[in-house]
Amino acid sequence: MDFIEKSYKEMIYYEIPFFNENKNVKTIFTSRIGFNKGNILNNLALLFDEPENKIVFSNQVHGNNISIIKDINFYNETEKPKGVDGLLTDKKNIVLVTVHGDCVPLFFFDKKRKIIGLAHAGWRGTLSDIGGKMINLMKREFGSELSDIIVGIGPSIGPCCYEVGEEIYESFVGKHLFLIECFEKKEGKYHLNLWRSNELLILRAGILKQNIVNSCLCTSCHNDRFYSYRKERTMERMAAGIKLMG
Ligand SMILES: [Zn+2]
Repeated sequence: MDFIEKSYKEMIYYEIPFFNENKNVKTIFTSRIGFNKGNILNNLALLFDEPENKIVFSNQVHGNNISIIKDINFYNETEKPKGVDGLLTDKKNIVLVTVHGDCVPLFFFDKKRKIIGLAHAGWRGTLSDIGGKMINLMKREFGSELSDIIVGIGPSIGPCCYEVGEEIYESFVGKHLFLIECFEKKEGKYHLNLWRSNELLILRAGILKQNIVNSCLCTSCHNDRFYSYRKERTMERMAAGIKLMG
């Protein structure tokens, strides 16, 4: 299994064994069971065993800005207000977090240099290739080698449920013709496969196929497990988290 379900107290969450088998890294994707807006920070602190001030949230604007976290206070004051859809760090014992209503969480780990990254990729982030941008930053800022990077594509709305307009199809095919295979027409409407789109972009960036795991869990189909903005217009979100262990 690429993502496995775990439970702790009243909470159900997911882990990526392919990541967590490396003793230096821990990943979590929350569910709707035991998690809500009111307790998410506290529960993440508990599950990651870090104080709340070590939890670094993105500030998602469906863009492709990625912040490199060197100092949490500097990030919170200076970079976060500008909008941040991706986080990257080589610092231990801080938890990077993105939040998701149906959009794809992308997890990154350089096994050799111990670098972690996390990105939020809805259709806009996918179209602007935030995954490829993350990989290039890892190479440029930390000297990562492509063969050392592993990537996890987390739960999001799946091609089964993600109907999109003609304009999204045209934007994708106009910018990345090779993503045409990620669209399927059902009853005259396009359906977009965001998992496959991100996977193809990440492969194009040079990551090895065997180093990519894909949850293929649809947040809308599995409404008993996940919140889904598309399905229920909820303001509740899941959180993706990653931490480099000390
Ligand atoms: Zn579905």
